[in-house]
Amino acid sequence: MSDLFSDAHAAALDAADPLRTFRDEFHLPLHAGAPQAYFVGNSLGLQPKGARAHVEQVLEKWASEAVEGHFTGDAQWMDYHALVRDGLARVVGAQPQEVVAMNSLTVNLHLLLVGFYRPTRERPAILLEAGSFPSDRYALESQVRFHGFDPATDLIEVEPDAEDGTISMAAIARAIATHGHRLALVLWPGVQYRTGQAFDLAEIVRLGHAAGAVVGFDLAHAVGNLPLQLHDAGADFAVWCHYKYMNAGPGAVAGAFVHERHARTDRPRFAGWWGHDAASRFRMGPQFHPTPGADGWQLSNPPILALAPLRASLALFDRATMPALRAKSERLTGYLEQLIDAGLGDVLQVLTPRDPAQRGCQLSLRVRGGRDRGRALFEFLAARGVLGDWREPDVIRIAPVPLYNTYGDVLRFARTVREWRT
Ligand SMILES: *Cc1c(COP(=O)(O)O)cnc(C)c1O
Repeated sequence: MSDLFSDAHAAALDAADPLRTFRDEFHLPLHAGAPQAYFVGNSLGLQPKGARAHVEQVLEKWASEAVEGHFTGDAQWMDYHALVRDGLARVVGAQPQEVVAMNSLTVNLHLLLVGFYRPTRERPAILLEAGSFPSDRYALESQVRFHGFDPATDLIEVEPDAEDGTISMAAIARAIATHGHRLALVLWPGVQYRTGQAFDLAEIVRLGHAAGAVVGFDLAHAVGNLPLQLHDAGADFAVWCHYKYMNAGPGAVAGAFVHERHARTDRPRFAGWWGHDAASRFRMGPQFHPTPGADGWQLSNPPILALAPLRASLALFDRATMPALRAKSERLTGYLEQLIDAGLGDVLQVLTPRDPAQRGCQLSLRVRGGRDRGRALFEFLAARGVLGDWREPDVIRIAPVPLYNTYGDVLRFARTVREWRT
């Protein structure tokens, strides 16, 4: 086998990569005149070159047609959100009427909790992972309080049971067995943002439903990263954002999934006119009649300019396809792992599960030797155009994204770590 750390090795892997041309579809930020090794697609994905044309089309239509833009042409604003529906459904494994692009992530979480978190005295509790993304915890805690319950007893956090900070399915099953009779809701991540651990969603749905709970997911770090089958998994609802692996731009309009079996739900919801039955919306009647499916959860007419880049992004996902992206992702992240194991184990400890089935593209790497040493390495990398992100107290997250990262990028990371150590 050729030397893993050689240029020739990475170049051969890149040459054999069937998705290598997709990198040219993105604007790559520069460092000292050359592209960065950008591993922060888990935070803000890169800009598809096609995004600008979609945004400009909206600006042009607004300039030339003004209010008529709502009703004219293929990309009329009245149905603009429908332009992304099929592509989104393919990315998350849903039926088209089960998904909608609207609002932002935490807003969607709250809106769906209005319908899907219905606590009673007997069943007031929400199960979530310890160390969840703060916004999710704030949302859940405030919902528990809003309903007059006590987060101290009714927000049940499953602690990691492995040394690396991951949570086994056995621990989740135990928590559901212990608290099941009190659970109104299980709200779980598809991929945990801090550890990069991916979960078996269908199994969590099965366990949650068997205990009589509703099961929802936050897929912020899963969508566009792992192939998902939300419909078949049986999730009641899910929410996610589009600015991470979906590359739809800062603050992009987010996504939501409502399972078909709830398409005509009489669950409570906070209603707005854009969720009203589309055929009669403009009769402007006083009674709210929801559009069946996910569309019925919309409140407002969507921010068209913020939705436009998602069209460019989804076109790339459709061309590349999730199975092909996942196949590359396993190899690309596998190469990163190999390099660490072969030559950087004295500097970096991999916290993310070693089993590819339990992770997406991200590896969370603990820098051995504590916080100061970790920060020093992080800054050394950034100063050389190798961009990861920092999680206190001593973790660097590296997310090689199969749409635009190369094996060469991964090698550059590993070599820069090696340079720092010596
Ligand atoms: C990125 C992320 C968020 C961010 O929420 P916004 O409402 O989009 O600002 C929330 N939750 C999780 C799990 C995330 O990964």
